[in-house]
Amino acid sequence: MNMDNGPDLESRLKGGLWGVIVGDAFGFPFQFWSRGRMKAEYPGPKDIPMLDGLWSDDSSLTLATAQALIDGYSLERIAQNFISWYYDGEFTPRRYAFDEGITTSRAIERLAEGISPLNAGGRGERDNGNGSLMRILPVAYYTYFKIKNLEERLRLIHEVSMLTHAHPRSLMGCGIYSMVIWNILDGLDKFKAYSEGIALAEDVYSEEPFSRELEHYGRVLSGRIHELGENEVRGSGYVVHTLEAALWAFLMSTSFGDTVMRVVSLAEDTDTTGAVVGGLAGTYYGFEAIPEEWIEKIESRELVGRIINDFVFSFIGKRR
Ligand SMILES: [Mg+2]
Repeated sequence: MNMDNGPDLESRLKGGLWGVIVGDAFGFPFQFWSRGRMKAEYPGPKDIPMLDGLWSDDSSLTLATAQALIDGYSLERIAQNFISWYYDGEFTPRRYAFDEGITTSRAIERLAEGISPLNAGGRGERDNGNGSLMRILPVAYYTYFKIKNLEERLRLIHEVSMLTHAHPRSLMGCGIYSMVIWNILDGLDKFKAYSEGIALAEDVYSEEPFSRELEHYGRVLSGRIHELGENEVRGSGYVVHTLEAALWAFLMSTSFGDTVMRVVSLAEDTDTTGAVVGGLAGTYYGFEAIPEEWIEKIESRELVGRIINDFVFSFIGKRR
């Protein structure tokens, strides 16, 4: 099925970015819950409520990146916005940064000390949390509209990951996610967006240093992530788990709301799995598919809306 009658581009772009914020806020109250506690309190995904509109680091760094890209690609400008977030509480609902992971904190401290953007991010195998995947969506959009060449697109995606997360596994997670996003923007059905995305990923990541990472993404690249049972998928903060959980929930569900509730029902790093899947589902189903009562709960809606609108209209031009 080709979604010729799917949402228009404006709706997709706004939907994906608002999807990150809404998914983050939806998941945040349940962060670090065990699967057992989640099941005990909310037996099924549809029992999980939107409790609160507080959004965290995932959304802040996504907005910081989007804001920087409005004036074109500059790694330094993105780095500066991360510094403003971390030290001055820019891009936050309550004027202070919170919930950041250790890899992100250390990297931003290095950026503030003057270390160059490409040398600031953590490079160890233990630096493969989901901290760059959760904020990469604006770069996937930017490259889709502004860059034709695939290698160049991936160079930008990887560089922006490297600000905080520089291990090849983290770069690949951002790359695979972006390939699926590009296919969605092309109007592909979600299963086709996934299968063609991973086919491309296997092709472009066939050389070192990436080829040795392929095995870690074996379940994603199998093309059968949606065939896994709920107990085989984890919502942990490991970048591979987060990408698996997001693709699984996205492919298993039929609406924006179902998708977010399903990923949050996996427990663990729920704000980030919510943000990552919110980007996919929002891009796919469009802005209008996000429950209005969820949007209305979001704190600092004017700030969010202003940055998202400015960013989206920098690609497609303002209508009316
Ligand atoms: Mg967070």
